[in-house]
Amino acid sequence: MTNNNAKAAEGCVFCQIAAGRIPSIRIYEDEDFIAFMDIAPQTEGHFLIVPRDHYPTLEEMPEFLLARALPLAQKLGRAAMTGLGVPGFNLLQNNGAVAGQVVPHWHLHIIPRRQEGEIPFKAGAPADLTRLPFVAENIRGNICQ
Ligand code: 5GP
Ligand code: ZN
Repeated sequence: MTNNNAKAAEGCVFCQIAAGRIPSIRIYEDEDFIAFMDIAPQTEGHFLIVPRDHYPTLEEMPEFLLARALPLAQKLGRAAMTGLGVPGFNLLQNNGAVAGQVVPHWHLHIIPRRQEGEIPFKAGAPADLTRLPFVAENIRGNICQ
């Protein structure tokens, strides 16, 4: 599908990077996506996969882009593993400021990993089993076809 950055948002840093108005170190581009190095990497080699068009969160992303995004993450993730010689990576996607999303233009993070504990993700506490069925039902009951 052809895409000429038809949906850009004023003041959005990733729209400006996609348009080439703000410089970035690109590793990949096609008609729908660009990928470039993160300016404040969690680990060395951290990069972002970003649609050229502006969609704030997963909620607004069209399905045709979502259908392309994961195979692209697989392809670029493989390249990172081979090219950087790392044994793994995290694929991260934040939705909403409360979830740590700083740039409201949907994107995937690929964060190469060299050792456990490099990023302080902490394990969750055991679930409250009296609440878990009700929490699950609140989600299950709201799945739209
Ligand atoms: P978020 O927290 O929104 O999921 O992630 C935004 C990411 O974009 C952060 O990792 C941040 O370092 C990166 N970032 C923010 N501004 C720029 C920029 O101007 N250039 C580049 N290359 N990365 C940026
Ligand atoms: Zn944008």
